Amino acid sequence: MKIGKDGYPSPPKQGNVGGCLLTIVLLFLLIGFFPLFNGSSQIEVPYSQFRDRVREGKVSKVKIGENKIEYFLKNDLEQAQKSKSSKSSPEQTYITVPLAQDQSLPKLLEDNNVEFGVKPSNEGNWIFSALSWLLTPLLFFVILAWLANRAQIGGSGANPLNAGKSKARVYIGGASGSDVTFADVAGIDEAKAELQEVVDFLKNPDRYTSLGAKIPKGVLLIGPPGTGKTLLAKAVAGEAGVPFISISGSEFVEMFVGVGAARVRDLFEQAKQLSPCIIFIDELDALGKSRGGSGMFAGSNEEREQTLDQMLTQMDGFEPNTGIIIIAATNRPEILDQALLRPGRFDRQVVVDRPDKLGRLAILQVHTQKVRLSNNIDLSIIAARTIGFAGADLANLINEAALLAARNYRETVTMADFNEAFERLIAGLEKRTRVLNETERTIVAYHESGHAIVGTLVSGQIEKISIVPRGIGALGYTLQLPEEDRFLMLEDEIRARITTLLAGRSAEEVVFGRVSTGASDDIQKATDLAEQAITLYGMSQNLGPIAMEKPQSSFLDGGYNSRRPVSPIVAGAIDREVREMIENAHHQAQLILKTNRDLLEEMAQHLLEHEVLEGDILRSYLSRVKAP
Ligand code: ADP
Ligand code: MG
Ligand code: ZN
Repeated sequence: MKIGKDGYPSPPKQGNVGGCLLTIVLLFLLIGFFPLFNGSSQIEVPYSQFRDRVREGKVSKVKIGENKIEYFLKNDLEQAQKSKSSKSSPEQTYITVPLAQDQSLPKLLEDNNVEFGVKPSNEGNWIFSALSWLLTPLLFFVILAWLANRAQIGGSGANPLNAGKSKARVYIGGASGSDVTFADVAGIDEAKAELQEVVDFLKNPDRYTSLGAKIPKGVLLIGPPGTGKTLLAKAVAGEAGVPFISISGSEFVEMFVGVGAARVRDLFEQAKQLSPCIIFIDELDALGKSRGGSGMFAGSNEEREQTLDQMLTQMDGFEPNTGIIIIAATNRPEILDQALLRPGRFDRQVVVDRPDKLGRLAILQVHTQKVRLSNNIDLSIIAARTIGFAGADLANLINEAALLAARNYRETVTMADFNEAFERLIAGLEKRTRVLNETERTIVAYHESGHAIVGTLVSGQIEKISIVPRGIGALGYTLQLPEEDRFLMLEDEIRARITTLLAGRSAEEVVFGRVSTGASDDIQKATDLAEQAITLYGMSQNLGPIAMEKPQSSFLDGGYNSRRPVSPIVAGAIDREVREMIENAHHQAQLILKTNRDLLEEMAQHLLEHEVLEGDILRSYLSRVKAP
């Protein structure tokens, strides 16, 4: 159950003030200006016609202005007088522009008994200028009020009066039975066991305090995205039956210095009222980046540091055993400020890693509980194939498969749905609209067959080859799955992987004698791997086991990229080593493909005809691969 957005009754909306003012001003404008412009209708006539009318005696009244003359006809005035009671017909005004120095006009008017006078110059203009003086600042304020209002409704906290309120969301569950429990979390048993203890602290604090033990205040969950850190924190609250106050680290840090600190204070105030409870701070790294690091803007650093200081103060400040436990999550533990990890703060650190095969099976079982599976589905096969998937990826896989089954009006989700969903997740959506011409298709067919032949020989089993375009840039793809979870890679495995990556390009060279742009992604990956082997893993004979790269993040993929300061000589040596490693692999791939030239031909022709190569047919082809 969720109560209130901020855990506070939401303040009455002042959202309409701006709107009202604006309407008033608009009304004012309409009332003020209507008579000036629209009091009576005006018709412009030539000066000669005006003189004719005067001579004919039709004109009753003339007002001579500086550069125009207004006049009224007798007929119109009479009519207006008649219908005055109804006020429906305004008198008709005619306008004409006089000749510059028409000295004869007064005489003409006198002769014809026309009433005439001079028109007061620019009548009503003072109203206009007064209004414009008044309106400009008024409009300015109205717009300002309106903007401020919008910002407040948008919830960005731009209204300074509300900035210091924490934006935490409070969930109260457990007792109502609707919340997450440990049964929903699978595959990360060690982390669960650690947190079981926290549940116990919250449920039976006396058992610990009577012995004089202090209950820990903070638990830090560390792990890659999607492994279930948020879920786990919610489950702790659900199991203990206490409120769960959730906020993200980035929600503290604002543009204005001091706002974040005020929010931290507010958060802890809120927690004290709800205790026993759990405060969950997601993405702690947004707030707890180590201080002193140079940021782009000094101001934003200042704000973050103050917020962090406030956080530390609050954590130290509340008494132990008040029943508040703070759980934080991060996937970048290495950038956290050391002060956060000291005893008395987040001194318990729980690693939530990607699940292994059994873990994946358990997660699949949890998430397929409500999905109607067909009998042919073996979840352990799916668990074996989904190496490297985190819990969130698995949940996504199941959902994709269910969506596919629904789209095809099937009663149950089949293994074929899972296979298609799996390919979608790792290679992207099929793009049949991306039509290749015959030359391109041929190149892709040989390229992919090349990957498959070399891959079979040097690394692992190939599952599927396809020349149906997929995803953002893939024109074809070869699916090769590792057989088991791996935590180490041997040097020759890295070399084998580079060789497999370069096999596509090599096939193009062997068959056509020229190359295409299709291998760019392979080349990127191969170069990255080779560089990592040398600068990060110290696998070069010449350079030795010296680190030339600083690892950035242990949990975010591809998070290495800062070269240590190295001399130009070493930099040159690195380049040479990388090149040599890649050239060797390239050479080997070409050699293998030349040895298997006939097989390459047959497989490519099969692909051109059928687009996909998998299962027994693929295996029978690949069993014929010969080593050079
Ligand atoms: P994190 O906070 O680590 O990035 P989340 O807790 O937000 O990951 O996980 C997102 C979703 O993925 C969860 O809501 C849940 O559906 C699923 N999930 C992730 N890990 C697990 C797990 N270990 N067991 C069951 N479901 C999981
Ligand atoms: Mg999360
Ligand atoms: Zn390729």
